Amino acid sequence: MIARVVETASEAETLDLARAVAARLAPGAVVLLRGDLGAGKTAFVRGLADGLGVPDDQVSSPTFTLVQVYQGRLPLLHADLYRITTAEVEDLGLDEAGEAGVLAIEWAEKLARPIPGAWAILLEDLGDDRRRITIDTPPA
Ligand code: ADP
Ligand code: MG
Repeated sequence: MIARVVETASEAETLDLARAVAARLAPGAVVLLRGDLGAGKTAFVRGLADGLGVPDDQVSSPTFTLVQVYQGRLPLLHADLYRITTAEVEDLGLDEAGEAGVLAIEWAEKLARPIPGAWAILLEDLGDDRRRITIDTPPA
């Protein structure tokens, strides 16, 4: 895996970074997002959505629906595992869900098993609006 570490100084910069990642995503790509509450996981997914051509304002934290689907250049599935148990995660069948599109998973820490070939994004709050974002790119 190739790790890239970027510091952003605003939500806008995080969105730009996520758009750049979106440009590199192919059907079946999985993006695992880790980081504390407020770190910017949902913001990052908004940037992915924008980069994939999803119309504005569709993206929120899918806290109650568990998985939301947005239509862009590729379908984007957005899951948030914050409120569910590890056992329930198994039932979602996320591994198979994203084959035609892109699957983005917030709170990927809760996955019982790793998803091979996934992108791994770690967001850390450095204070104020600064975030350290570590991007592990899957092997080509
Ligand atoms: P999470 O999904 O990780 O809980 P959100 O994306 O919902 O976090 O919230 C991140 C919050 O932090 C938003 O209010 C956003 O405006 C703010 N923020 C401030 N600076 C940044 C940054 N550099 N990158 C991303 N979000 C930022
Ligand atoms: Mg969120």
